[in-house]
Amino acid sequence: MMNEKDLKNQKNPKIPFLTKEKTEEICKEYPTPFHIYDEKGIRENARLVQKAFSWNKNFKEYFAVKATPNPFLLKILQEEGCGVDCSSYTELQMSEACGFSGSDIMFSSNVTPAQDYELAYKLGAYINLDDITHIEYLENLTGIPETICCRFNAGGKFTISTEIMDSPEDAKYGFTREQMFEGFRKLQEKGAKHFGIHAFLASSTMTNEYYPTLAKQLFQLAVDLHQETGADIQFINLSGGVGVAYHPEQTPNDILKIGEGVHKVFDEILIPAGLGDVAIFTEMGRFMLAPYGHLVTRVLHKKHIYKEYVGVDACAANLMRPAIYGAYHHITVLGKEDQDCTYKCDVTGGLCENNDKFAIDRMLPPVEIGDLLVIHDAGAHGFSMGYNYNGKLRSAELLLCEDGSVKMIRRAETPADYFATFDFCDIMKDYLK
Ligand SMILES: *Cc1c(COP(=O)(O)O)cnc(C)c1O
Repeated sequence: MMNEKDLKNQKNPKIPFLTKEKTEEICKEYPTPFHIYDEKGIRENARLVQKAFSWNKNFKEYFAVKATPNPFLLKILQEEGCGVDCSSYTELQMSEACGFSGSDIMFSSNVTPAQDYELAYKLGAYINLDDITHIEYLENLTGIPETICCRFNAGGKFTISTEIMDSPEDAKYGFTREQMFEGFRKLQEKGAKHFGIHAFLASSTMTNEYYPTLAKQLFQLAVDLHQETGADIQFINLSGGVGVAYHPEQTPNDILKIGEGVHKVFDEILIPAGLGDVAIFTEMGRFMLAPYGHLVTRVLHKKHIYKEYVGVDACAANLMRPAIYGAYHHITVLGKEDQDCTYKCDVTGGLCENNDKFAIDRMLPPVEIGDLLVIHDAGAHGFSMGYNYNGKLRSAELLLCEDGSVKMIRRAETPADYFATFDFCDIMKDYLK
């Protein structure tokens, strides 16, 4: 099924960045399952993002730390000119440890605890308020910083042409349009001098029109806010939501086209309004890393009942997107890339939950016990959504470096890690070593 002709016909051929031989070699040192990231792919993509927005003088991509919170990966993105988007205390701590500070950090949180705001303020991060009531909350905690950002919720449905992309009216985030005006005035009274506007109106979008359509709305809002309140708008943050082609039949987004689309509306709306100095920010997570991460797992068992099952040593605790959203993740059986996909099976993990399936009725080459599988596009919202259900331990994270060597960037959990939170008593003490 996957002969050369079919591969060519795919819009998005899924070719692993690892061969079977290389992976077997890695497995001698690091047992499966593990997440592995491709440094070369990450850097090339990050450079393309910078190029796409190079027309904007102060453009900055703030990588959404929640997508893949690993200091080694944050450092790579930092070297490529990225900042970080944090939403919690520990994400701020990790960013601080990596040397991000001040305008390198965007703090886009919601239902924010006091200590999180305090740390964000201390680091000099751009604070993105999720709600109008947070103005007084922040004022009482730290005072209002000179530069402050407000998150906008446009309400209604977010549509491109006639297609509904998402329903902001049902989303818990942000200020209403009226609240944006009221909020800006309040913040000005309390000493704010410079403003940012932020919105995240649709997730995992698969059209080059998402950012330009969002930008148009935000640029018009910026002009209105500037004209009505006199506020100095310093940046507009398009946040995340740019999707990746998880399925081989999907056409990947073209970031250069996306950048050009935003450029066009910038020239149409902001320049004539005298707002040509506004910086464009993005907060992509998925687009920055998803395609450059594989979850590598080995086949432990095969089972033949009413259906065919391939049981692997990874489970939903390593990658929960298929289990919770029914998300598609492409699977390659290493060493069998050229074989026909004639075997229909469910690929499952070992959790005591029937939704612990990486694939349902997937056509694969005939799979054998011991085969290595690559689960594609696991580089964002993969490891980070992991959990310890059924006492499963988090895997290692590895980096395939540009020179071809492999470096551990997070060790695998051990039972001692799992039991560590009982260290205040003696019951588990023999297992804490
Ligand atoms: C999750 C999130 C992002 C990143 O979203 P992606 O879909 O990974 O691009 C950016 N900004 C905020 C505020 C988020 O919550």
